[in-house]
Amino acid sequence: MLVTLARFLDPWEAYIVQARLQADGIPATVAFAHHAIVNWPMAVALGGTAVQVPSGCLTQASKILSQYQTGALESELLEVIGSQREHCPGCGSMNLRQTMQLRQRIVAAAVVLLFAPFPAKRCTFLCNDCGSTWEWGQGDG
Ligand SMILES: [Zn+2]
Repeated sequence: MLVTLARFLDPWEAYIVQARLQADGIPATVAFAHHAIVNWPMAVALGGTAVQVPSGCLTQASKILSQYQTGALESELLEVIGSQREHCPGCGSMNLRQTMQLRQRIVAAAVVLLFAPFPAKRCTFLCNDCGSTWEWGQGDG
C-alpha cells in the first residue's frame, strides 16, 4: 500500500525528491502533479503534489527526506562538486533571506489572478548582515 511521505507546492521539487528516493532503491511515485500543471491555484487548494512510497519503505524514505530538508544531502553534493552554498558576495555571510522586487511581486500576482498554469521562479537574496542584494547564482566567486 502506498502512503504519502510528503506534499510539495512545487511539483518539480516532488520529482526531485522522488528521484532521490529512487536512487536509494525506494520505488517512490509522484501523485497529483498534473493538478499543478493544469491549474496552480486549484493544486494549492488540494494540498499540492504528493510523494508516495510503499508503507514498508516509509522509515527509510523519511530519513532520506529529513536529510534533504535539513540540507545534509545538498552539503554532500556541494562538497563533491567543490562549490559553496549561496552566500553574500559582499561579506561572505550565509545568513540570508530570499526577497522579490515589487515589480516581480506585481507580475506574480497578475499571473496568479489570470490563472496562468505556473508561476515563474526568480529570486533575489538579501544579506541579513550587510544588506547586500543579488540575483540567484551571482553570489559565487
Ligand atoms: Zn553580506
